[in-house]
Amino acid sequence: MEGEELQHVFAKRIKIGQELELFFEDKLYLCLLEKLNPKGAFCIVIKELELATPLPFITLYQCVPVELKTVDFIVERVSEVGAYRLVPTLSKRSFQNITAINKRMERWKRVALSAFKQCKRPKPLEIAPPTRLEELKADADLNLLLDNFGGEKSLKDLNLNGVKTVSLVVGPEGGFTRQESELLRERGFIPIKLYPYILRSETAALLGVGLIMNL
Ligand code: SAM
Repeated sequence: MEGEELQHVFAKRIKIGQELELFFEDKLYLCLLEKLNPKGAFCIVIKELELATPLPFITLYQCVPVELKTVDFIVERVSEVGAYRLVPTLSKRSFQNITAINKRMERWKRVALSAFKQCKRPKPLEIAPPTRLEELKADADLNLLLDNFGGEKSLKDLNLNGVKTVSLVVGPEGGFTRQESELLRERGFIPIKLYPYILRSETAALLGVGLIMNL
């Protein structure tokens, strides 16, 4: 073990002979630390840990804020509150440069990995390839739009019985345009208002995911 994983061993002051959890190739293992030096660590795998991912699986379609580093915060916080996947989404008023977004993907995956370790999720938040708002389809069991133009429903009106997958769309700092809101409504996304005030995009994402996971 080396690199960031090794830093984690040092940061948590894990000693030789102690157990630690390691995430490797999409699986989580309980291991025993056998050797440790400044350049690397050697672990023995005790067993694979199979932790269930809590339902519902929320895919957050996050319109990328113009202030790109806000996405780091969103990745970290929605990891903690239980989103399953984040899809960076380009909308009319979002950050537009797809090349710059693609360059950030590795960074967001690292942030997700670090949040996963901190909050003991079964798996890191998946960071999916970017998409465009016009491409979104209401193909989850429940499809929600946190709408800056308001909504007839609030989250507490929703019934999550039997719902396994949720799509949640959140706008950028400048919000959705009226056309975008209408397009998503026509496609079957339910407009939701969070009470009582207007929230920053990152607060809306965090609150939206956190509330759905606790309904
Ligand atoms: N510029 C917009 C306005 O003045 O109405 C506000 C956009 S808000 C800063 C960014 C995004 O967060 C919105 O597009 C929406 O997805 C979400 N959001 C913020 N407050 C919300 C609320 N009270 N209800 C539903 N969604 C909200």
